[in-house]
Amino acid sequence: RKRVVSGVQPTGSIHLGNYFGAIKNWVALQNIYDTLFFIVDLHAITLPYEAQQLSKASKSTAAIYLACGVDPSKASVFVQSHVRAHVELMWLLSSATPIGWLNKMIQFKEKSRKAGDEEVGVALLTYPVLMASDILLYQSDFVPVGEDQKQHLELTRDLAERVNYLYGGRKWKKLGGRGGAIFKVPEPLIPPAGARIMSLTDGLSKMSKSAPSDQSRINMLDPKDLIANKIKRCKTDAYPGLEFDNPERPECNNLLSIYQLISGKTKEEVVQECQNMNWGTFKTLLTDALIDHLHPIQVRYDKIMSDSSYLDEVLAEGARNASEIADATVNNVYQAMGFLGRR
Ligand code: ATP
Ligand code: MG
Repeated sequence: RKRVVSGVQPTGSIHLGNYFGAIKNWVALQNIYDTLFFIVDLHAITLPYEAQQLSKASKSTAAIYLACGVDPSKASVFVQSHVRAHVELMWLLSSATPIGWLNKMIQFKEKSRKAGDEEVGVALLTYPVLMASDILLYQSDFVPVGEDQKQHLELTRDLAERVNYLYGGRKWKKLGGRGGAIFKVPEPLIPPAGARIMSLTDGLSKMSKSAPSDQSRINMLDPKDLIANKIKRCKTDAYPGLEFDNPERPECNNLLSIYQLISGKTKEEVVQECQNMNWGTFKTLLTDALIDHLHPIQVRYDKIMSDSSYLDEVLAEGARNASEIADATVNNVYQAMGFLGRR
């Protein structure tokens, strides 16, 4: 079976964007592919963060994966830092990464500009090398990527080809490697259309964990009243009726898209149902649909969190599975790069 890997950073509350852009799709992917879904905690320290919160956020993120339908009997679910090979391979890959490639990364430019010079750690720059390591360690065939991660996946592909060129080939075959390459070059898996969820307070920027205002997102664990309040106060416009795809109305497009995704209806059905509505009527409809969809997930989440030994066992098992694959890759890379083997 082809392999797929993906993860979410434990940098805050998991929101609708993470759900529709990532986690919900994994639930379908786990039936088709060999899947590994991890909590990318090593990435979560690239910007200033609170150490006392990290382990809690990792655990909570894992519980959300399961509550949303990720099934540990089908997918390996684990915490990135539990598999040491991620960091090891990252170092090896760093030596093959031209610094110019990293300087070009848009996310680095954006995030570093916001943070200010003294706040920006080296890890923010080298983040894409860790991401490449996350993917290449597992010889992944496909990686689901949102718009925000496309450039990083390109870099991963370039890096895989570069390492294959520098250290692969005949040498690799002699060591018993198959296909004459050290790394498989992964392909992007384009997520279903409409899976880019925008902020509730600005239809032009994406919904994000790290956005300072909690009003800008619906979190998976938001209680009913808070969901109702956020939808009530979210940004709208003064045009008559409701419509998709009007560039003058990004908020309207976003809210209709969220309604479409959460209700499981087609775009046409949503147009039929909502085109003549006013905002008040639509907001009630959307609020109810959100609550109906999120409530059962929240009930499962509470149940999972109430039995911490179950979650611990899932994560331990996931890390064992992942380590087996990851260790084999990293050992091969050490060999190919000429390191003295240990007996
Ligand atoms: P941060 O602000 O800390 O970067 P984030 O909300 O962007 O957090 P990530 O952990 O960076 O979340 O991304 C996890 C996954 O969720 C990625 O696959 C990413 O493409 C997807 N994702 C994040 N935000 C959205 C969004 N608004 N719409 C759709 N997918 C999203
Ligand atoms: Mg992000």
